Amino acid sequence: MFDSHCHFEPGVDAAGWIARARAAGLDGLLACGGSPEADEGARLAAGLAPGFALAAFGLDRDAADAVAGPADMAARMAALERTLLAERAAAVGEIGLDYSRGEDAAARARQRALFAAQLRLAAKLGLPCSIHSRGAEEDTVALLRENLSPELAAAGRAGSLHCFVGTAEFAAALAPLGLCFGLSGIVTFRNADALRAVVPLLPRDRILVETDSPWLAPVPLRGRPCEPAFAVHTARRVAELLGLPEREAFALFSANARRVFAAR
Ligand SMILES: [Zn+2]
Repeated sequence: MFDSHCHFEPGVDAAGWIARARAAGLDGLLACGGSPEADEGARLAAGLAPGFALAAFGLDRDAADAVAGPADMAARMAALERTLLAERAAAVGEIGLDYSRGEDAAARARQRALFAAQLRLAAKLGLPCSIHSRGAEEDTVALLRENLSPELAAAGRAGSLHCFVGTAEFAAALAPLGLCFGLSGIVTFRNADALRAVVPLLPRDRILVETDSPWLAPVPLRGRPCEPAFAVHTARRVAELLGLPEREAFALFSANARRVFAAR
């Protein structure tokens, strides 16, 4: 079992998260950045548990408005590249698009520019991405098509569409691009029948489980601050949906995550 997307936000009990994740049977996790605070958390986690906690660094959609133009974008990408290399990052992330909060056309364009620049950087470095997409399926697919590394795509390790709640059509557009599907605690929620219907249609070698800690605690822990150990509850539900024995499913999710994020 592997938590393919979580955030060691400031103030969380990082050592406790890691100890309880190991005790719950996890063999690794991807600590995602995206903001200065989340990047710092990813660094902290990787330092506490080298080899177990892998780190991702990036600039999420909230950073898009601060980019002052092409020269500033280039400087930010150069700084991110230095971080990714110096800290032996496992992935770029989280990055992506979010059109769910009333963004106007100009704000959406700024998000796309930042996302595309980081996809190109990931392709250059041969790194997978952890990707956020909300209300922006069409643009997400278009930018992935244009910018992902063909080699990583062919190997099925271009990255993860994190917190996947999409339709069968969105999944069918992403799978040929080498993307995996990060299933979060949402798959356990009472109102998630539509998502549960899509899960058995996903290619099995592309299914990942994630917590998105400290958010989205799965049933039966819903409402509590989420932590990586809770991935077990989500994984059990996904195993049921796939009709797989628990042990086999857990090994599958871990192998998939390692292929994508721990390949080097
Ligand atoms: Zn996240």
